Amino acid sequence: MPELPEVTVIVNQLDKKLKGLVLDSIEYDWPKKFDWGRRPGGPSGPEGKYSIADLKGAKVLGVERRGKVVLINFQFPISNFQFPILIHLKLTGQLIYQDEKTRIAGGHPIPPLNLPVPNKTTRVIFSFTNGGHLYFNDIRKFGWVKIVTSDRQQVTRAIGKELGPDPLEISFEEFKKRLEVRGQSRIKKLLMDQGFVSGIGNIYSDEALWRAKIHPARLAVSLSQLEVRNLYKGIQDSLKLAIEKGGSSASAFVDSGGEKGLYLSFAKAYHMTGRPCERCKTPIVREKMDGRSAHFCPNCQRLT
Ligand SMILES: [Zn+2]
Repeated sequence: MPELPEVTVIVNQLDKKLKGLVLDSIEYDWPKKFDWGRRPGGPSGPEGKYSIADLKGAKVLGVERRGKVVLINFQFPISNFQFPILIHLKLTGQLIYQDEKTRIAGGHPIPPLNLPVPNKTTRVIFSFTNGGHLYFNDIRKFGWVKIVTSDRQQVTRAIGKELGPDPLEISFEEFKKRLEVRGQSRIKKLLMDQGFVSGIGNIYSDEALWRAKIHPARLAVSLSQLEVRNLYKGIQDSLKLAIEKGGSSASAFVDSGGEKGLYLSFAKAYHMTGRPCERCKTPIVREKMDGRSAHFCPNCQRLT
């Protein structure tokens, strides 16, 4: 699953590449997960929905991230009317932009990010007047695309419960308060709850807990003040390091054979089963927990 660092990396790349491009067409084979949104002041029923005729000619203002949702912000040159297109990569989404000179790709590493596009996982194609295309691929079809007016409330409603606070922006005080409210949750599961904080999944919950020396099955309420502080720092440090390294699925690191595509040079615990803990040399173990695999050091991260 693309987590916050992977989404941040592709959003930053798309922001540079798409800014100023003019939308020409949108094609998709995915009516269930493609929501055209409602024209402000338009009639109710399907005729009140946007169509490509309404959106053609809009210029990309920029690309940003809210939690794990990608927002491509558009503006019309004359009316200045603005609207974002929201894309959620969910479990297996990929975004690939390609024109004559460039290709950038990010998101889930399967199928390989260097496969030609469009391919059989391509769900939506946004075409621009410069001849470039943005492909939204999603092998398992959990992701979605929504067009909304830029009204903040509408954006928030569309993102829905995905909008837990951003772990890179949340203050320590707020983080602590939210932990207290959810005291009876197991800590790894809680970190992965998108309503608690947004953007952390299996990879960065393992990494943050390793850094903070906290066993993944501990209850939130059992953490000491110091552990809460270490966890807060562990989250920030592991996310920032991964962003710096290009996330776990940066296209530059997918080998030509498409081998897995995971690039984990930053990992201390995740997928490190059997390898020595960097601190104490005890082999990292993997355990099933709440339906997911937790990777941790059984010596540094004790249950009691
Ligand atoms: Zn250790």
